[in-house]
Amino acid sequence: MAKIVPLFSSSSGNSYYISGNSEGILVDAGRNCKQLELALMQNEIDTKTIKAIFITHEHIDHCAALRVFAKRYELPIYGSKGTLDALRKSDKVDSNAKLFVIEDEIILGDTLIKRVTTSHDASESCGYHITTADNRRCSVVTDTGFLTASAMSALKNSNAVVIESNHDVEMLKNGPYPYVLKKRVLSMTGHLSNIDCAKVLPELVECGATRFMLAHLSQENNTPRLALDTAVSVLKSAGIKKDSDYTIMTAPVETNGKSIVF
Ligand SMILES: [Zn+2]
Ligand SMILES: [Zn+2]
Repeated sequence: MAKIVPLFSSSSGNSYYISGNSEGILVDAGRNCKQLELALMQNEIDTKTIKAIFITHEHIDHCAALRVFAKRYELPIYGSKGTLDALRKSDKVDSNAKLFVIEDEIILGDTLIKRVTTSHDASESCGYHITTADNRRCSVVTDTGFLTASAMSALKNSNAVVIESNHDVEMLKNGPYPYVLKKRVLSMTGHLSNIDCAKVLPELVECGATRFMLAHLSQENNTPRLALDTAVSVLKSAGIKKDSDYTIMTAPVETNGKSIVF
């Protein structure tokens, strides 16, 4: 049984546990070590089942727990070369940390993990496409101004998808962020809006995706209701029915026991 457990999601911390049968990996390790340990415990995830941590990029909401957590559980850390260099330079990993560059894809135990290119204002950001032992496939693609060809091909080859639905464009434009930050979020190296996320979902269903998790929702410029409504209405216009053709949820800011089985 393959599953995705969202431990945290938002600009204050991101982490997902993805497992095949008995082993799993973490994608990102935001918040702090104590909070990450607590979230794992609340979801009855034994840290012994975690084989590695895959980091999408060096922004603090994706790696705040990394230094202490990876050292405590002696876990290898994977990422692009740019991300690992940035983590080292900014002291976000221990000097003895086991760091491994993932160029294209690697096999870890019975899991295949492939790197996916994203477009973000970080050194060399990425997402991940994961194939579990029972040949179930999922993708995690967040923190991206737009969906690159690499991200689209991973998403189209997934049964379950964690995809960024960061902001409602109108809410962001009329919201409290300073102009410079608004411009950054809206840029090609910022974050994916609700509508840009929603637009690709019909194609993903046609390609075989049935489980969606909308992730990295802004707490200032979005609401779970708005993100869900945008996605569901675009899918509905394409004649795709919620609950019979697909299921959808928003990744909670903090873990609340929700998960995707795929
Ligand atoms: Zn982020
Ligand atoms: Zn980021």
